Order: sequence, then C-alpha cells, then structure tokens
Amino acid sequence: MKKIFIVTDLEGVAGVVSFSDQSSPDGRYYDAARKLLTAEVNAAIEGMLSSGVEEILVWDGHGAGAISFEDLHPAATLLHGRPMPPWSRLREVIRRYEAVVMIGQHAMAGTLTGNQNHTQNSRTIDYYRLNGRPIGETAQIALYFGALGLPLIFLSGDLDACREAQELAAGISVVAVKEGVGRAAAISLSAPEARRRICAGVRQAIEQQRANPIPPLVWEGPYVLEKRYFHTDVADAAAAQPGVERVDSQTVRIRGDDILELIYR
Ligand SMILES: [Zn+2]
Repeated sequence: MKKIFIVTDLEGVAGVVSFSDQSSPDGRYYDAARKLLTAEVNAAIEGMLSSGVEEILVWDGHGAGAISFEDLHPAATLLHGRPMPPWSRLREVIRRYEAVVMIGQHAMAGTLTGNQNHTQNSRTIDYYRLNGRPIGETAQIALYFGALGLPLIFLSGDLDACREAQELAAGISVVAVKEGVGRAAAISLSAPEARRRICAGVRQAIEQQRANPIPPLVWEGPYVLEKRYFHTDVADAAAAQPGVERVDSQTVRIRGDDILELIYR
C-alpha cells in the first residue's frame, strides 16, 4: 500500500455548512472554505506519509475546483482543471494507484439530516438508484474505483456520509467531522480536532488495509441506473440521450453491463 488516490469534495468538510456562502464559487466564504478543505486533505496526507505511503494524488473533485493549490501539502500532486477529462482517460490515471480515500464527502440527496446533502447536481437531481438501491456520490466512486481494482478504504465527512460509506463497504474506516442537523446546519468539530482525527483515521485505515484488506466494491450486473429529476425539462434532456428510457415525467432509466460506462452517465 504505497500509492493512494484521494477524491475530495467540499460539502463534507468541518466548518463548511452552507451551499450559498461556502460551497458555491461566488459565496462570500468560498476561499475560506477552500482553505478548510485543503487543511483536511493535508491532514490525510500526513497520516499516509506516517504509514509509509509514497505516492499521493489529490483529485480536486468539487464543482469548479476547491483545493487551495498554494496550501497543498508538498508531498502530494494535484489532478485539477475543468472541464474534467473523459472518464476513459481518467481511468488510466486511477489505475496507477492502489486504493482510494475520500475527504470532505456529503450524504446522498434526500438524507434527512445530511448537511448539504445532494447527488451530483443539487438543483436538478432528486435521486439515483442502482438496481433499485438508492446511491449517492460515495457509491459512484466506490463502484467506479472498485471496478478498476481500488478499494475505498477511508472516508471523512458528514456523519450521514460516513454511515452511507459503512453500509456500502463493511470494514471501511470513517471519520465524521460534523453531524448534520439539517441540510444547511451541522455540529462541526473544531478545525484542529477534525484534522487530528483525519490524520489518525487515515493512518489506521492504511494499517488495517495491510493487515486485513477490504476488497474493491463490486456489485453484480447487469445494471439498471434510475435517475429522478426535480423538473421535467431536465428529464426531457436526459431522455433525448441514446439508450435512455423514459419511465415517467421526471424519471429515466439506463441499462448496461459495464459499471464503468454506466455509473457517470
Ligand atoms: Zn461538491
């Protein structure tokens, strides 16, 4: 376990509770939120280095990008830039690593207490279901990386995001840095305490992975991905894509055998 891929998001960082003020690029505290995220990522990197990890790639996963480059740990490299390259090309980068870690993750859309809960687009998507099971961004990452042979070994974020990860991957290490008490409110740990727990948690996750590895997440196919939107015009646009079946005014389904081709459609 020497090469780790870190997937970052912003909404699950301690102290970042508001879509409008903190998670949106035009929010008045966006730059402060970026620094909070980057410090949590740096804490994870410290935990990795202390357990002998040698190569760390940080993927700047939030919206238009939220890592504060000048603050990023010197031991890490950064995958960034928008628009994102095609997944077919990202795959080749992902395959260079042995495991994936998520920092700053939020719960799926519709989670009652999940702070800033959403799935992909907070303004358009009601839910995603894969083979009947509700999924969020954590499942998307775990399944995509799992299909490439990388297990999701650690996640930090909102408490509901942690529970979501544990339901997906038994044995995964998690650190809840805040407890959501509504979509726009949470009880956060202090920033130093959140970082301390992430550093220790990542270290423990790597040691556990060496001693008693959790496998990459794989669900048996064939797959049916159901997406429900809040508005009919978004469903109209989705249904116009090839291979997409209209279920009702707001819902579409996509079928496939290859999770890599399906999960980010
Ligand atoms: Zn995000």
